Amino acid sequence: MTDNRIVNNKGLSYDDVLLIPKYSNIESRSEIDLSVNLGNSLNLDMPVFSSPMDTVSETAMAVAMDKHGGSAVIHRYNDIEQQAKLISNAVEKARHNVGFAVGIKGDYLERALAGVEAGASFICVDVAHGHHILMKRALGRLRTLVGKDFHIMAGNVATLAGVNDLADWGADSVRCNIGGGSICSTRVQTGHGVPGLQTIFECARTDRDVAIIADGGIRNSGDIVKALAAGADAVMCGSLFSGTTETPGNVMTDMNGTKWKTYRGMASKEAQVEWRGNYSSFEGVSARVPYRGRMHDVLVNIEKGIRSGLSYSGARTIKELQSLSEFMIQTSAGQNESGTHINHRSW
Ligand code: IMP
Repeated sequence: MTDNRIVNNKGLSYDDVLLIPKYSNIESRSEIDLSVNLGNSLNLDMPVFSSPMDTVSETAMAVAMDKHGGSAVIHRYNDIEQQAKLISNAVEKARHNVGFAVGIKGDYLERALAGVEAGASFICVDVAHGHHILMKRALGRLRTLVGKDFHIMAGNVATLAGVNDLADWGADSVRCNIGGGSICSTRVQTGHGVPGLQTIFECARTDRDVAIIADGGIRNSGDIVKALAAGADAVMCGSLFSGTTETPGNVMTDMNGTKWKTYRGMASKEAQVEWRGNYSSFEGVSARVPYRGRMHDVLVNIEKGIRSGLSYSGARTIKELQSLSEFMIQTSAGQNESGTHINHRSW
């Protein structure tokens, strides 16, 4: 029996696919250009953002991301003066881009103004369910406030209709993915979401002049290459950068001498209690992650992986990757084979 409310019976995630290696005439990975133009004066040399989360993006992260050609989005879980200070401290030291987040209720217009005055280069309108009437209202007001030439990122959405509406309401770039983040329990809690890579395939079909940001669920440079090949202009990551020196919070040591830091969802009970004094329903978790040292080493490794990924598709630019790449859906046996599997060897 078919039910016409079943709108799509497949929902591919990153592990469901592989990119098929192609003939390449790229002799050195330095020939590969990872720069992207996300519209309205936002250009990156490496298409990677760090998430607006209180255990990821403050001044030190913004400086590290900018130095390597990406950008941080400084989180909004603070008062306006604190956030403006985090931004201005980064803008001294950063050469290109520093972004910052605002919500869609309360003080968001004052917050936006303070962030722009502190020298930020783009705003990110940051809510869990961005395809929403309050987003429409907020984007209208923010556009009037900052004018047509200031880049506004908005999200999150999981559908083509969501991307198109946010673009029509004034967004220059849209964060895509609902419920796919490593610390996210939205799908379990609410039953809603679309697997991460499928979201990008759907959202990238937009005919609007809007950049697609693949946000959440990205665990390694291979996932970044898959997201870009599927049509994302850039990616946004939290857990990939968690536990580094540049994230906010102290390095702790457990009884075995292992060093760790906290990484938590902004809708987790812990985050809500800290920022609001109480919690409503929670759609995220808090986790201990291993301390991993400096962002420099993490980002150098990621950049090498992305360059190598483009070279396997014979692509010199991200646009070329999108036109040349071909995906193959892999079986669960293929997924097992794709990870290292030395421990599963039969003797
Ligand atoms: P990750 O890179 O897989 O760790 O996912 C990070 C992304 O998860 C962020 O950029 C947000 O879009 C999203 N996110 C952050 N906090 C929460 C939460 O508490 N619940 C659901 N999603 C979250």
